[in-house]
Amino acid sequence: MPLPEATKQSHRLLVLTLVLLLGGGFLVTSLVSYQASLKSMRSSIINTELPLTSDNVYSEIQKDLVRPILISSMMSRDTFLRDWVMQGEKDVEPMTRYLREVQEHYGAFTSFFVSERSLTYYQTKGVLKRVDPKEPRDIWYFRVRDMKEPYEINVDVDMANQDRLTIFINYKVFDYDGNFIGATGIGLTVDAVIKLIDEYQRRYDRSVYFVDTTGRIVLTGADGGPLGAKVGESLSQVPGLEDLQAKLGRPQSGKFEYQERGRDHYLNVRYIPELDWYLFVDKHEGGLLNGLRNTLYLNLLICLLVTIVVLVLLSRLMRRYRQSIAALATTDSLTGLPNRRGFELLAGQALQEARRDRKPLTALLLDLDHFKLLNDTYGHQAGDEVLQGFAQNLRDGLRQSDIVCRWGGEEFIILLKDTGNATAHFLAEKVRSDVAARRYPFKGVNLHVTTSIGLAEMHPDDSLDSLIGRADRGLYRAKQSGRNCVCVEPSGNHDVL
Ligand code: GH3
Ligand code: MG
Ligand code: MG
Repeated sequence: MPLPEATKQSHRLLVLTLVLLLGGGFLVTSLVSYQASLKSMRSSIINTELPLTSDNVYSEIQKDLVRPILISSMMSRDTFLRDWVMQGEKDVEPMTRYLREVQEHYGAFTSFFVSERSLTYYQTKGVLKRVDPKEPRDIWYFRVRDMKEPYEINVDVDMANQDRLTIFINYKVFDYDGNFIGATGIGLTVDAVIKLIDEYQRRYDRSVYFVDTTGRIVLTGADGGPLGAKVGESLSQVPGLEDLQAKLGRPQSGKFEYQERGRDHYLNVRYIPELDWYLFVDKHEGGLLNGLRNTLYLNLLICLLVTIVVLVLLSRLMRRYRQSIAALATTDSLTGLPNRRGFELLAGQALQEARRDRKPLTALLLDLDHFKLLNDTYGHQAGDEVLQGFAQNLRDGLRQSDIVCRWGGEEFIILLKDTGNATAHFLAEKVRSDVAARRYPFKGVNLHVTTSIGLAEMHPDDSLDSLIGRADRGLYRAKQSGRNCVCVEPSGNHDVL
């Protein structure tokens, strides 16, 4: 049975509302939780993770550097060293012994003294060379000589130790009158610091490096600094760090965010006074976002699946509901047979088929005899049960293809397909006699009914109404004839036979 357009539209509206509610709700929840996670992860990176890395690296560098500065400071004040220089650097042996003693005792990588008067570079194994202002490797000495501060920290390769990257503490040495007489100090490899930097970079996917006050990168992990920058390069020279340069100007402590080729970076900068350097700990959002995005996509996928499953279930439920409504509208609730409405649908189709296939079709109209009396005698419930039993007998006694319906009250109608007058008469007679012989038990009483049947075969010009009209006339005659009998109403003959 086709559904009215208004019902269809209200179903469509229901589905649409559900899609919007479910889909929209899921989408908003997922996006809000994504944003919340992003915010909390950002905050944890900026406020916890990066400062923690910075603290750890700082304490490691302090351990590695503060002690050497103290040792170098002590060397610069050492009376033996100063006396030995002032007495003319006569014997190399005591000086090398002194340097060896410092190096071994304090576990330094190298120790040295450069004399201002002779420009001799002493180290633990003796005289290494003479420093030369024209030699690029010796420039450090002349820089130290001219600087105002008492010492500097310089990261350089150590010529005396296979050119390994070394942090030199270069301390100025003065005689007792305050005249500059040379530079001394120790050197240490930055292996431990570099290892730590590498570990942080690898394990936590962040860049750790040191920058001096002019913005020059002074110490990085083994694989270089941010975006492959090398020691000695200025931040402003590293492609991709222009934004950072613009943000910082010169290095300064604090928390910063900047963009590099569209990627968000979080940066923690800390000034290390002992080194006069800045420690940079930098993390970009890329990896972090990937994890979060994957979770978001998974969430959305699950939401989509849930929405689809709910919609499929709902539309199935609605289809079943519609079908049962349609069935209810065309089925008689007492007998389970099609009602008059159902009959009209089935009969219309049967008539069409019979006409198309030029096959006979016969209608039987049945009415139980004296049914009112049965109701009055045994009660309405008894009548109902007889009607149910009678309907079941009709169904059982006929072919599946025959149409059996409750026409109303205690009247039934049957359309026998592909059946002419004679066979139909025979079948009607069988129905009548079966019913007459049958008993319907009800509360210990065997109820008994008879039926009158009017029969009419379809005429080529017949409409459903005219066919039923003739069967009705047959039924009328059967009643007139004393009930419990079958009367055939010939086609096209309106006269009473
Ligand atoms: P007749 O032989 O002339 O057909 O007599 P009748 O008593 O069967 O005819 P009448 O039309 O006077 O009465 C039909 C009775 O059928 C009256 C009505 O209460 C009863 N009836 C109709 N539908 C139902 C039903 O669903 N259940 C019950 N129990 N009785 C019904
Ligand atoms: Mg009746
Ligand atoms: Mg009756």
